[in-house]
Amino acid sequence: MATYNVFLSDVFGVLQPASKLIDVMNRLKGFFDPIATQAGFADGALILPVPAEFAIDDRFLEVHFIPDDLSAIEKFANDQGAPLLGGRTLIRAVNGSSQMLSEVRGLGHNAEMLAKLAFHECMHNKLNRSGSQLHPGPSIVNPALGLASAELDQTTVMTVANTAEMAAALSTPRKQWPGVVPFLVQRRLRKEAGDPFWNT
Ligand SMILES: [Zn+2]
Repeated sequence: MATYNVFLSDVFGVLQPASKLIDVMNRLKGFFDPIATQAGFADGALILPVPAEFAIDDRFLEVHFIPDDLSAIEKFANDQGAPLLGGRTLIRAVNGSSQMLSEVRGLGHNAEMLAKLAFHECMHNKLNRSGSQLHPGPSIVNPALGLASAELDQTTVMTVANTAEMAAALSTPRKQWPGVVPFLVQRRLRKEAGDPFWNT
């Protein structure tokens, strides 16, 4: 396999217009290209939108962009957990291995922040690390942690350590949670049909 694939789902169109989606994809490619190359994927990274349920190789990553008023982690995986800020990754043991669900709340963020949030969730996902493991200490912008920082802003950049850690782990299998896209499609259909309980 010559490319490393990162799949994005955006059932509710929070990455629209298309220019914003392309901006997010290009920024994520900028983050993942050096990681993929370092990990032996000679042709770098491909960032691919997924329009429907899709069987994803366990080596690859998937991030779901969601509206601010619906969480697949809460409503599909039934995990209340901490309130979702910019993004969240659920890691759950299923049949003896970890299964990952990464989501990013999309509204109100520009393309730069959306790409950084998505990459941050990919770090939780691929490195199999909880919040306290990936970013111990207070929830602040910590420049030393780069994109692993608990809070991200326009000054946050990917560090050499971020690249090295992700490259070292990139081929480690992490099962991406199945069935999330069909769940989101059903909720979008309910919302469009005027169901007042579409997100409950
Ligand atoms: Zn985090």
